[in-house]
Amino acid sequence: MNEVLKRLGLQEVNSGAAFDGWYDTTGRVVESVNPTTGEVLASVRLASVDDYEDIIQRSQDLFRRWRMLPAPKRGEIIREMGEALREHKADLGALVTMEVGKLKSEGLGEVQESIDVADFAVGLSRQLYGLTIHSERAAHRMYEQWHPLGIVGCITAFNFPNAVWAWNAMLAGVCGDVVLWKPSLKAPLTAIATHMICEKVLQKHGWGGVFSLIIGDDADVGEALINDRRVPLISATGSTRMGRHVGATVAKRLGRSLLELGGNNCVIVHKDADLELALRGVAFGAMGTAGQRCTSTRRLMLHEDIADQFLQRLTRAYESVPIGDPLVEGSLVGPLIDEDAVRMYESAIKAAQEQGAELLVGGSRVDGPGYFVRPTLMKAPMDAEIVREETFAPILYVSTYRDLSEAIAIQNSVDQGLSSAIFTDSFRASEQFLSHKGSDCGIANVNIGTSGAEIGGAFGGEKDTGGGRESGSDSWKAYMRRQTCTLNWGEDLPLAQGVKFVI
Ligand code: NAD
Repeated sequence: MNEVLKRLGLQEVNSGAAFDGWYDTTGRVVESVNPTTGEVLASVRLASVDDYEDIIQRSQDLFRRWRMLPAPKRGEIIREMGEALREHKADLGALVTMEVGKLKSEGLGEVQESIDVADFAVGLSRQLYGLTIHSERAAHRMYEQWHPLGIVGCITAFNFPNAVWAWNAMLAGVCGDVVLWKPSLKAPLTAIATHMICEKVLQKHGWGGVFSLIIGDDADVGEALINDRRVPLISATGSTRMGRHVGATVAKRLGRSLLELGGNNCVIVHKDADLELALRGVAFGAMGTAGQRCTSTRRLMLHEDIADQFLQRLTRAYESVPIGDPLVEGSLVGPLIDEDAVRMYESAIKAAQEQGAELLVGGSRVDGPGYFVRPTLMKAPMDAEIVREETFAPILYVSTYRDLSEAIAIQNSVDQGLSSAIFTDSFRASEQFLSHKGSDCGIANVNIGTSGAEIGGAFGGEKDTGGGRESGSDSWKAYMRRQTCTLNWGEDLPLAQGVKFVI
């Protein structure tokens, strides 16, 4: 076994379920494959619905105790988790790269994101503020307070196998919830390694199981989780197809869901843009992470005045971008996650051509081991069906515009509403883009690409992206229940709105 995996203790574990210790799971075995080489890294035996049931029952019990620990004390434990992640950052980052094919710096960056959110959560643990409200009744006081919810089910996508869990777990943890993580079957090792690092800290303090793990099939374990009334919040990150099903299932039992789904993100390059900046922003957004970020740039609108010049430079960047092993310094485009992803890339390009698009660069698989494809640039009609869908691969569709309102309307015309960006040096153009008649996305950037966000802001998108917000700002409110309290310190019992009821 690979040294990184050994250092992370992965040679000792092939179980798919953990709550204050590993279960002896009995399900089918799934292999984690390195998309760079096609080699099997390790295998995991999946958990069953019985394992799930056991974890939920123990989680319910643990929640009753965990919620009684003062929030700053919970924050202290999260602080130590951040320290533990710092200690293992190099290995965990390398594992992210090995398991999902991100560049080395991006694997490390992902773990850094988890550390950052842990730090953020520590500060939050001394806040979690409520409001005081003036009562209309004399000698009355109103305020609102926030209580923990209970068990949070956290479903994560393959492409952020470490940070998305941290966004949820670190916040939910300081809020007083316990978290059951169901990761993607495409990245089980990162989940196991992350779980082990954080579980060790919890066990040290006698809180093993506050963050539990279940790796199982969607059809049994996944369905059990989303249908379970004992889990008041399901936070699910993944495709819109998944979110539509999960959201409807949770809504049917009147549970809460926090959905972080697909994007179809557009960059507008205006006539007065700093083209060097725009080039770098678009190149990273569209080719970076091999187009496998929810915030990857998939559509590009170029102002007619600069379109030819910009496209020439972008074409050169596409032609020369180094594709290769993401662990090797200098590679800028790693592999797709698996063979299915390569097939989807190929069929999207074919569909685009059938729907009127013209291939400018790329369009094919790279020979050799692994799942490498060439970043692809296509001139395309922006209303083509395939352009309106999210293909999780490095394909960028380009078109031109004359009028900024028209470009913004095209940007907003798709079903997804995650990330958006404009490159411009014009105050008016930038303000128009950010105004209420501008971008309809959850993220709107100026002179920064669509891809990559800091944890301090709330992260998420509108429309088919699901409407959820995770990570910074006041996203913590999703993990708590609000209670409005009215206290009467007078000697009378006046009713609100002047209602009289005298007995
Ligand atoms: P996916 O939808 O195939 O799977 C996501 C997760 O959902 C996996 O853990 C999967 O096992 C689980 N799942 C699927 N059906 C389920 C069910 N019935 N019950 C319970 N769990 C179920 O997505 P993916 O291919 O892993 O990831 C790529 C997608 O995720 C892209 O669409 C991308 O845009 C999106 N994504 C969104 C964000 C965001 O914050 N908006 C972040 C990362 C990824």
